[in-house]
Amino acid sequence: MFPRIVLFCGGVGGARMANGFAAAMAPQDLQIAVNVGDDFVFCGLNVSPDLDTVMYTLAGLNDTQRGWGFRDETWIASRRTAQLGGPAWFQLGDRDLATHLTRTAQLAEGKSLSAVTASLCSAVGIQHSIVPVSDQPIRTRIRTADTLLDFQDYFVRQKAEPVASQILYSGASEANLVNAVRLALDNTHLQAVIIAPSNPWLSIGPMLAIPELKTTLQRLRARTPVIAISPIIAGQAIKGPAAKLLGELGHEVSAFGVAEYYKGLITHLVIDNGDAHLAERIRGLGMQVHCTDILIPTPAEQTRLAQELLALVSSTATA
Ligand code: GDP
Ligand code: CA
Repeated sequence: MFPRIVLFCGGVGGARMANGFAAAMAPQDLQIAVNVGDDFVFCGLNVSPDLDTVMYTLAGLNDTQRGWGFRDETWIASRRTAQLGGPAWFQLGDRDLATHLTRTAQLAEGKSLSAVTASLCSAVGIQHSIVPVSDQPIRTRIRTADTLLDFQDYFVRQKAEPVASQILYSGASEANLVNAVRLALDNTHLQAVIIAPSNPWLSIGPMLAIPELKTTLQRLRARTPVIAISPIIAGQAIKGPAAKLLGELGHEVSAFGVAEYYKGLITHLVIDNGDAHLAERIRGLGMQVHCTDILIPTPAEQTRLAQELLALVSSTATA
């Protein structure tokens, strides 16, 4: 069986959309591909923040208030590390730490990141397939006026405050798609590619920088819907620096700026009802526009949006 839908996603916005599709679709029909550009090594541990956010969310274990990590988390190891004078700028909860210990040990045994992810997902009872977009490392870096910052240094240590002039994706040009994603994109059963309402530069950009993915999408969009959901509503991000980056990198801070970013790669942009006045300009970029309610904090709203997108996919197939 090949999946009908391939969903590309980052962390929080990505996990919200992934959760909706997982509720609306049988496991064999959906392939979830996750950004690895934020992955890094902290205190010798392999941390994959976006994979973990998607995994914890689909397992129903995530903290919805904080937006990352486990619900009901404890922080004994992190506090003790700080007391000992160890590195504490990146907080790891005790339960979360167990994920990184397991991942690090299995990678050290020679398993691929996708094999480790499959085993972690199965241990928390997830039936849908979640894979890293690539088994090779891709590392997002942020160029500022005077320096080049590693992603977590920029995002966590410096709270995304430095002004970005360019985003780089080290390793992406040599990276390949994982096999599950390549096969799903090549298969005739594919009905649509969905790009979650994730940060375009920080979560989707590292994946699109894989040459194989970019050329596949450019080719696919002639016959298969490639649908992105805007992470920007009313000129603002729900969370994180997406709006700030749009402005710093020279785009209009709106769903139109998101559309410019995805021009030539997507067939449809899904924007919020409140942004409907932008639809005509976005259509001028050569894509269709679907307006609906795209703020999806709760599982019910996530499932509703996923079902609506599946209906949109069916209507394009019969049109
Ligand atoms: P990160 O890796 O944790 O930063 O997560 P993502 O890149 O996947 O998601 C961050 C983006 O998700 C931000 O730009 C938010 O504006 C967007 N986002 C978060 N929640 C929602 C939502 O309910 N609806 C929409 N449309 N976007 C959202
Ligand atoms: Ca992320």
